[in-house]
Order: sequence, then structure tokens, then C-alpha cells
Amino acid sequence: STYTYSAGPGMLPKEVMQEIQQHLLTFEYDGISIIETSHRSESFQHVVDSLEARLRRLMHIPENYAVLWLQGGATLQFSMIPMNLRNQNRFAYVDTGVWSKKAMEDAKHFGQVDVIHPLIDEAGGMSFEPSLVQDVDYLHVTLNNTIEGTRFTNLPETTVPIIADASSNILAEHIDVERFGVIYAGAQKNIGPAGLTVIIIRRDLIQSKELPSYLDYASHVDTLFNTPSTLSMYAAERVLKWVEDQGGVEAMERLNREKSEAVYSFLEQSNVFSPLVSGERRSLTNIPFTTGDHGRDLSFQQFAIERGLLELGGHRSVGGLRASLYNAMPREGAERLVDVMRAFEEENDV
Ligand code: PLP
Repeated sequence: STYTYSAGPGMLPKEVMQEIQQHLLTFEYDGISIIETSHRSESFQHVVDSLEARLRRLMHIPENYAVLWLQGGATLQFSMIPMNLRNQNRFAYVDTGVWSKKAMEDAKHFGQVDVIHPLIDEAGGMSFEPSLVQDVDYLHVTLNNTIEGTRFTNLPETTVPIIADASSNILAEHIDVERFGVIYAGAQKNIGPAGLTVIIIRRDLIQSKELPSYLDYASHVDTLFNTPSTLSMYAAERVLKWVEDQGGVEAMERLNREKSEAVYSFLEQSNVFSPLVSGERRSLTNIPFTTGDHGRDLSFQQFAIERGLLELGGHRSVGGLRASLYNAMPREGAERLVDVMRAFEEENDV
């Protein structure tokens, strides 16, 4: 089989793809595609209700949080968050890499940004100093850094709402929703196809700021404000059913730990490959690694493609190689990657 280790969009479970394929022609009844179905129809309303109910069950989202399904990706949230949550027009951002920097650049259009540098402890755990978070409307963290392959291991308490970009770890590991004011994520890694963004927001934080209608969170609470990404929502609902059938987020996290552990432990003892991140802050979903030589990294990528392992190139800002192992990547995908790295090592070890 072929496996795709892309950082996004990620793979979808094969059985979900087959179901989508079938409903492309027969959603409401024979001859009516899910793509053609009105977002105001009763059958689509079932999809919306079920999608939200499944996410609430999977993440234990309490009723005092609203769940919004928007477009524009996680990137649009980089500006909707400061636009909607500003009061003093001052925000704190923990700088953990490329995506957190993009988030703070957009926030600068709406106020002052205090940059907080992460703390790394002896075990390689990642945290931040809470006393630096003062007189701000919120603190923003990127829970999993897709490009750098790192994650927070400890989030200290702060007195301001914590806003989390969970684009690359939502549903892949446990997230304690009640610790956050907002959790947002582009769907395309662990939830479904691109074109859909989920925002889980504590209701008391939704205070109208007289924004243009789409950009105001209040427009989207408990209603479909405009035509949503209907096909992506339908696919996401099927993916969430699949996650529930697999045993929920707990089972996904267990699987993701097993998969990433298999790859990290190979990288640790390899004579050819090495991991780019060490210690407890290693991501469960994104693993950057290298042979230490650009030409050899490219040869490995080619070697892997010839064996059906796709999209192992590193991000241009980090270089090297990267394997993303989101929920739909089966255990065999991680094992196959290790086997192919071992075969390359046998051919290239000096
Ligand atoms: N935040 C993180 C952590 C990401 O990994 C990504 C995309 O990979 C984004 C934000 C941007 O998401 P989108 O492409 O949905 O705007």
C-alpha cells in the first residue's frame, strides 16, 4: 500500500473515503449528491447536529462552549481572535515557531503583542512563565508545532483566557477543553477535508464588537450563518464517527504514541538518521528528522517514493525530512516507514 506522510492535508480513513464515494451520488436519495444538497435541508441539518454532538462527546465539550464551523482555515482565526476578543488591545503570544509567529503578526493589526518565549526544562519539556502574562486580553499558544515537531508538555495556569491553535493535534491527543477560552483548528489534518475550521469558544467570550458580519463570532453561534463547507462537514461527521468507533480520543492518543514511539526509537539508534527534536516536547504527530546531509535526505525521499511512501520532505524553513502521523495513519504506516528507513540505512551505512 501507499502511505502519505504529508503535514496537511492528512490521510482520511479508507472506509470513510469509500462511504463518501458512495454518497457522492446518493445522499438524500438516489440521484442527489451530498454536494447538491441544500445546507438548509433537513437531511443536512442531521449532519450538522451529529457533527457537533460527536465532537462534544469526543472532546467532552460542555454546554457553556459554542462550536462553530467556519471557512478561512486556522489562518483566518489569526485575525478573528484578536478582532473579537480585544478589550485592552494587548495580547500575549508564546513564540513556539512558524505558525505562532504568523498568528502574532496578524494580531499586531489589532493591538500590542507581548512575545513570551517558551521554557525548556531538563527533560526537554516545554512550558512558559505565567508571571509574564499580565494586563492582556488573552494568551495565545500553539499546542502542537506542525513544522518544528514540538508540543507543550505543561501549560501553567494564568488569569487570562488561553487561546489554543490545535490545528495539528485536535482529536490526536487529550485536550482539557475547560482550560481554554478558545480552541481552534483547521480540519484538514485530523478532522476531514480542507475547507473547514472548527472553533470551540466559551460563550461568555463572545461579545459583539460591531465587526463585519462574517468576522463576528456572534453571527455563527448555534446557527449556519451562510453556506458552509457542506461536503467537508459531511466528511468530517463520518470521520468523527470513525474516531468514536475506534474508541475515541483516548484510543487515538494511544495509537499516536505507539506510532511516534516506533519512529523516534528507530531514529535514536540509527547510524544514518537522527531526530531534530529531543526530550518530552516531541510531537506525537509531526516528526522532523534528517540524515545530516541535504543530498542524502533527497535520496531517501526518492527511495521512499519508490516504495510507496509519499510526502516525506521537510518544511522549507527547517529542511531535512518530516513524517506526519495523524489519526488516519495506521500503525502499519509507521512500521513501514521504519522498515524503509532501515533498508536505506543498510544500503548507505558507512
Ligand atoms: N496552525 C498550525 C499549527 C498549522 O499546522 C497550520 C497549517 O498547517 C495552520 C495554523 C494554518 O492552517 P490553515 O491552512 O487551515 O489556515
